[in-house]
Amino acid sequence: MSIQTPSSPERGDFIREIVAADLREGRHQTVVTRFPPEPNGYLHIGHAKSICLNFGIAREFGGRCHLRFDDTNPTREEQEYIDAIEADLRWLGFDWGEHLYYASDYFERLYDWAVHLVRTGKAYVDDLTAEEIREHRGTFTEPGRESPWRDRPADESLGLFARMRAGEFPDGARVLRARIDMAAANINLRDPVLYRILHAEHPRTGGAWCVYPTYDFAHGQSDAIEGVTHSICTLEFEDHRPLYDWLIDNLPVPSRPHQYEFARLNLTHTVLSKRVLLRLVDEGHVRGWDDPRMPTLSGLRRRGFPAAGIRDFVTMVGVAKADNVVEVGMLEHAVRGVLNRTAPRRFAVLDPLKVVVEDYPEGQVEEVEVPNNPEDPSAGSRRVPFTRELWIERDDFMEEPVRKFFRLAPGREVRLRSAYFVACREAVKDAAGRVVELRCTYDPATRGGDAPDGRRPKGTLHWVSAAHAVPAEVRLYDYLFRSPHPGADGRDLFADLNPDSETVLSGCFVEPSLAGLPAGETVQFERLGYFCPDPDSAPGALVFDRTLTLRDTWAKLQAQGRHDTA
Ligand code: ATP
Ligand code: MG
Repeated sequence: MSIQTPSSPERGDFIREIVAADLREGRHQTVVTRFPPEPNGYLHIGHAKSICLNFGIAREFGGRCHLRFDDTNPTREEQEYIDAIEADLRWLGFDWGEHLYYASDYFERLYDWAVHLVRTGKAYVDDLTAEEIREHRGTFTEPGRESPWRDRPADESLGLFARMRAGEFPDGARVLRARIDMAAANINLRDPVLYRILHAEHPRTGGAWCVYPTYDFAHGQSDAIEGVTHSICTLEFEDHRPLYDWLIDNLPVPSRPHQYEFARLNLTHTVLSKRVLLRLVDEGHVRGWDDPRMPTLSGLRRRGFPAAGIRDFVTMVGVAKADNVVEVGMLEHAVRGVLNRTAPRRFAVLDPLKVVVEDYPEGQVEEVEVPNNPEDPSAGSRRVPFTRELWIERDDFMEEPVRKFFRLAPGREVRLRSAYFVACREAVKDAAGRVVELRCTYDPATRGGDAPDGRRPKGTLHWVSAAHAVPAEVRLYDYLFRSPHPGADGRDLFADLNPDSETVLSGCFVEPSLAGLPAGETVQFERLGYFCPDPDSAPGALVFDRTLTLRDTWAKLQAQGRHDTA
């Protein structure tokens, strides 16, 4: 696999070309796609690629895209997931209108079609155990062996299938199999299982069924029922396409859909498998499906990633037919691109050090005007209180400044953004020798942050008035997996978990305007990064998540032409 470089954001991928040709040449009057999640987990960034493709094509070509829950495995599916999937889709900016479907709505029709296959000699009930069926299947190099039940009379199969449905047999006792070709080179055609017995409550059909169709049997037939024209899925289903077509060919379905495959999204430092994501949640490695470190859409949203940034990323990645791994830095780059334009700037101090401006009148409060986005005057400004006692960032001070450290130091003057120049007179230390307070003086002539005499300090710091500062907890995030390729080279995936993926800072201070910021509103803490309120926030106990740092190493590497070898 190679690390992918961004394709140009034009939308002419091979699937869109197929759709355009089908419409142009009259094979279809309108395009109908579908997004078919199995409600056994939350949507992740990989799903976003499929969503943007399916809904995007419908939108661009004036067709429609269905949301269809592929709910054929009741043991792993839950209503909670159905609700979350709908919410995530809407948040991402897509709407299925009235076209909400469930594979389970088609259970009766699918059952009738299974009966049709048995009647026409194209399916049979097999009494072999799952283990025996596996043994009979053969390998890539050896053909399979026929089941001793393969040639049982259709009437016998019909009777048994009816009794399977009626609940007469325990789980696994029998299955319904297609009767295709045990010697087929494609293993998917070696009499695949169409129905299995599962005595399980279904979130929608309850106890009505105890036989459930397999994915292969349900999927194409659901497409045909809905009139889907282009059934777009990921590459791992390529080998299933002959079975998809065989079923469509051998059933009296109302329309003829076609399946097309594209490469799934893979991201460095990230695992996009619901099975693994569920384990992360169940084993407590994260705070839940929407943990800001999770690649789920709900996690990315909680972390402050705007939906537009995710859509831009998917466009940058493009649609191809070869597997690859995209650098997670590309996602961050796309998100920064949006946030840099839209996120208002705010002041917050994560590691506070007290500054006392000795010659500033005690008790005086001045509201200074601070631009919301220095690069965008239309973003306006806000008023921030300035007082005699302030918090600044501890690492904005050095008692013995090293070369190229241009911030505060004894005897040195800096600008407090949009307020005044201050100069450090003395660093006060505690008994242990740790600096606990800076005694400073200010220049009243520099109000607003500029000196009439034109002098320009080299450092500009952010600050928060101590009397007005709102305390907050701030959570910093790093990759959930240390390795760019988690679990590669036979390593245990969970051994690659990054023990430092979350750092919780307490005792931070933010400017008062941040107290009422709703979750999901991402701001830039000046000089520190992008942050947004976490839903764990309560009045008087604010919690912020760091969305991203400001530095865009991916863009830098790209400028140097080095990202393709990273
Ligand atoms: P997982 O393997 O994580 O369980 P899945 O493919 O089984 O995922 P589904 O709910 O079946 O999850 O996925 C719904 C749709 O999203 C499918 O059409 C699937 O091909 C697509 N999809 C899933 N993962 C990705 C991915 N990483 N990149 C692109 N599309 C994806
Ligand atoms: Mg699936």
